[in-house]
Amino acid sequence: MSIVSRFAPSPTGYLHLGHAYSAWLGRTQSQIWRLRFEDIDATRCKPEYLSAIQQDLSWLGLTWDGEIRVQSEHLAEYRGVLETLTRKELLYPCFCTRGEIARAQSAPHFRETIYPGTCRNLSPAERDRKLHAGIPFALRMNVERACQMAGTRRFFEIGTGWAEAEPRRWGDVIIARKETPTSYHLCVVHDDWAQQISHVIRGEDLRDATHIHVLLQAILGYETPCYRHHKLIVGDDGKRLAKRDKAATLRELRDMGITPDEIIRRLAATQAAYS
Ligand code: GLU
Repeated sequence: MSIVSRFAPSPTGYLHLGHAYSAWLGRTQSQIWRLRFEDIDATRCKPEYLSAIQQDLSWLGLTWDGEIRVQSEHLAEYRGVLETLTRKELLYPCFCTRGEIARAQSAPHFRETIYPGTCRNLSPAERDRKLHAGIPFALRMNVERACQMAGTRRFFEIGTGWAEAEPRRWGDVIIARKETPTSYHLCVVHDDWAQQISHVIRGEDLRDATHIHVLLQAILGYETPCYRHHKLIVGDDGKRLAKRDKAATLRELRDMGITPDEIIRRLAATQAAYS
């Protein structure tokens, strides 16, 4: 069986060494390596970064297989997935603002604000009234109901083995945002299926999201890929690299005269130190 993985940057800035590490790991550990641009956030993504990212990957000698998938070109597909989830009665409109959610929250929870369920419990009349009043809404998934539908699910993490998915830790996640008819979770799950990804190789900062992805895969009848959440490359200060650290962008390194070979050697040394 060939290993098919992908690199899925959001085109919100230039690639830095952290991206290069993820891309290089993916490329070297798979036979087929796909490229996908996660550009649904129209306010933060810029077309110039789509071409810059391709140039930077090519400069490093990391060539992707097949066509590039650009999420903003697939909104109709995501709408279809939303319809499927709606037919299964797993979604409900949520009219809450961030402030309202924070106020209704009783205790700090897993990773981000867990939704207290306010709009899940609206009466049909109240829901209709808000819809007719034109109040903007997101679509949330009733995670408890989805878990009951899906049953217990597991995923295989390379290096540590089987783990049980615990999507309830997320509460009712947003599946379609107020400003765009989709979300990171929906797009990733659908695209990994559409691109026939067998192994998701990505940073450990995204490990928590896997719990909700595995639930969505079960509901949608998509096979769950294997996962490998790699350690993040850190800067000299020991903190993870972020797009704001301009000195670490590949462009900056190239302009400083550093060669692709030197970068690849540093990535390989990082991997050796981590394993
Ligand atoms: N677009 C995400 C990022 O740039 C990666 C998503 C994923 O690999 O699942 O951090």
